[in-house]
This record gives sequence, C-alpha cells and structure tokens, in this order.
Amino acid sequence: MSAANNHFDVIVLGVGSMGSAACYHLAKRGIKVLGLEQFDIPHNQGSHHGKSRMIRKAYYEHPDYVPLLERAYELWDELEADATEKIIYRTGGLYLGSSYGSIITGSLESARKHGLPHRYLNHAEICEQFPSFQVPETFEGYFESEGGFIRPEDAVQEHAHQAEKNGARILASTPVLDWVSSPDGVEVKSSAGNFSAGQLIICAGAWTGPILRDLGIELTVTRQVQAWFEPKDDPKKFTHENFPCWFIETDPPHGHYGFPTLPSQKGLKIAEHKPGEPILADQVGQAVDPPNQSELDDLQRVLNTFIPGAAGQLLKSCTCLYTNSPDQHFIVGKHPELDPVSLAAGFSGHGYKFASVMGEILADLATNGATRHSIEFLSPKRFG
Ligand SMILES: Cc1cc2nc3c(=O)[nH]c(=O)nc-3n(C[C@H](O)[C@H](O)[C@H](O)COP(=O)(O)OP(=O)(O)OC[C@H]3O[C@@H](n4cnc5c(N)ncnc54)[C@H](O)[C@@H]3O)c2cc1C
Repeated sequence: MSAANNHFDVIVLGVGSMGSAACYHLAKRGIKVLGLEQFDIPHNQGSHHGKSRMIRKAYYEHPDYVPLLERAYELWDELEADATEKIIYRTGGLYLGSSYGSIITGSLESARKHGLPHRYLNHAEICEQFPSFQVPETFEGYFESEGGFIRPEDAVQEHAHQAEKNGARILASTPVLDWVSSPDGVEVKSSAGNFSAGQLIICAGAWTGPILRDLGIELTVTRQVQAWFEPKDDPKKFTHENFPCWFIETDPPHGHYGFPTLPSQKGLKIAEHKPGEPILADQVGQAVDPPNQSELDDLQRVLNTFIPGAAGQLLKSCTCLYTNSPDQHFIVGKHPELDPVSLAAGFSGHGYKFASVMGEILADLATNGATRHSIEFLSPKRFG
C-alpha cells in the first residue's frame, strides 16, 4: 500500500462507545479518518455491552452536563433516523431517594438551573403512580418523561457503519501497538501496519491508564455486575411501553438502577452504580470473572425489597468495566502536552448517554482545536 493510502487527517484509537461516534462525525464532515479497534465492533470485553444504557437529563452528578445532554439527545435522534434498528427508547425515568440524598437534590438542582420538565413526587404519589415500587416513607421521587435507554451495541455498530458509509476506514481486530507524536502529527504502529495522521484521538476506555498516568492522572478500572431477572408478576407490567427506567439511592450516594424488559429480551436488568472490585490493567480484555452467587443474591435482594413483583428467577448475568477518574467526572480535551492528540477517557460508569455528543466534540477538537460545547469542567488540566 502506498504511503498516501496510509496517511489520514485523523486516526481514532479505539472504536468503542466514544471512538465509533468520533469516526462518524469526522467522516460526515468529509475528514479522512481511520478507526483502529483491537477487538470486534461491538464486543463484550470493555464497557459497552449489556444491551441497555440509561439516558436522562436530570443530571444530579453536575448541572454542567445538562447542555451536553440536550445536544446528545438531538444527535441520538439523528443517528436513529438513518439506522436500521431502534436505538433510543424514551420510557421515562424514575429516580427515588431520601430528600437529603444527591439523587433528589441534584436532579432538582439541574432541573431548576436548566428548566427541565419533570414531576416531583412525594411518598404517597410514588405509591399511587408507580405501584410496582416499594420505598421507605422518607423517600421522594423525581420523574422525567425524557428519561430512557440506549442500546449500546447497536449504537456502536451504527456509528461505525454510518462512518464507513461516509468514507471512514475502520479496522476491527487491529490493536494499536504504539504511537508517537511530533509537531507535524502522529505515527501509529498497529497489527495491520504503520499509519500516520495530522491528529490522533484516544478513546481507549479501560486501556487508557498508562497514557493518563504519564500526566499524573490515575484511572481505576473496576468490574461491574449486570443481571437479568424474570418478573414474578405479569410480564406485561414490565415492558418498555409500561415500565420506566429507574434509579434508587439504596446506599447514598450510590444506588441501584434498572430497565424494563426489552423488545428482544426477556427479563429486567438490574445493576449497582458504585465502583466495583478494581481490576489490574493487564487482566482487562481477557475473560473478566463472571459474577459470583453472593453478588447475584445481593441484586435479587434489592429487587425483592424495592420492586418485589420483578424479583423472579435469575435468567442471565455478566460483568463489564467502569473506568473511574479520580473525581468520577469525564476527562475530555486536548492532551495538555501533545498538540496533535485529543483525549476522551474516565467515563466513570455514566458516559454512554454522552457518546453521540462526545463524537461531535472530539471531531471539533481534532479539526478546529476547540469546540463550542462547554467542556472546561472535564479538562484533563483540572487535576493540576
Ligand atoms: C455495567 C455498566 C453499566 C453502565 N450503565 C450506564 C448507563 O446506564 N448509562 C450511561 O450513560 N453509561 C453507563 N455505563 C458507562 C458507559 O458504558 C461507559 O462510560 C462507556 O461505554 C465508556 O466508553 P469508552 O469509549 O470510554 O469505552 P469502550 O466502549 O470500552 O471503548 C474503548 C475501546 O477502545 C478499544 N481499545 C483500547 N485500547 C486499544 C488499542 N491499543 N488498540 C485498539 N483499540 C483499543 C477497546 O477495545 C474498546 O473497544 C455503564 C457501564 C457499565 C460497565
């Protein structure tokens, strides 16, 4: 292959959640882009498998995420308009916790600051409007009709597919083995040969550790359990037309969350949103240990306590990876020391819903060096 064929405007390292979206936005702008992925697209070794990822606007974690979410919703709809499969389901989102916990206070603060439509619910209203849920009398509720879920494997595949339709070159099963940056651009060594580009975007998920460690930022990769249970009550009560996505602050500030049954899958999915057991970087990508019985018993106990009609027999379970930043906020921006390099990492178990807008932001950074989106609060420089 000639040197010209191996030179690109932008190379994207990692075609997972964020990388597939970056390839899509770059290709749609007519940029010559190469995406390199070490596994299949999609795959079940990283952070984007499990069939559902919650999307919500009432961002209790930080109100500055809300404008990004507004744009993320628009871009998910745009992707879906050209997709063969449905990607985003607006089931409504129900968030339950005590009046002093962060889920209620933070969601209300985001709603107030950004004028988000929502319904506040007292305990009696929770019981009346959502009778499947049983929560302590001290709990309050926040419901937003825009809440719902995205199908992550389909969305990764669709971003990559539409990127290719717009001219991107995407290579699966092609690990990046090394890269170097100079003021003129980057040289990338992969299992399929060497490539060069003006810009490199690094979206390596759980494999980003060594790159950020050089900047003094420590990422912690953790093993997270997801499980699916057959409903005990009439399954119709729990379909995506009849049942919301939910989050319950079971162990403030952490909690459990779950989904209705999906069109192609029996069973309600539940997981805990709390960094799990840390995993050594070199274990990542080899079969991560499956859940053990006590982890599954814990999830069933939570369902039995809060949604008893959903707590039937276990159907299926698996593990997945969180890549936690030191403050649980994302790390997105230009590399502080290497001008041709942009970074998107440390999505800390809540990043998927943003993948569509992250693709746009990363395309902006690689082509213009800046973005119109307010991402200063996510800058890698904030760690000093
Ligand atoms: C159980 C679970 C539940 C979650 N629930 C939600 C939720 O409800 N809502 C939400 O918004 N978020 C959720 N998340 C978080 C969300 O899924 C992640 O934040 C997001 O997927 C991270 O995207 P990423 O692109 O950083 O990683 P990934 O999607 O894993 O992509 C990184 C890619 O880089 C590739 N790569 C790495 N190194 C190389 C290399 N050297 N060469 C080539 N390729 C390489 C990897 O193979 C991988 O494909 C959840 C995560 C988990 C694990």
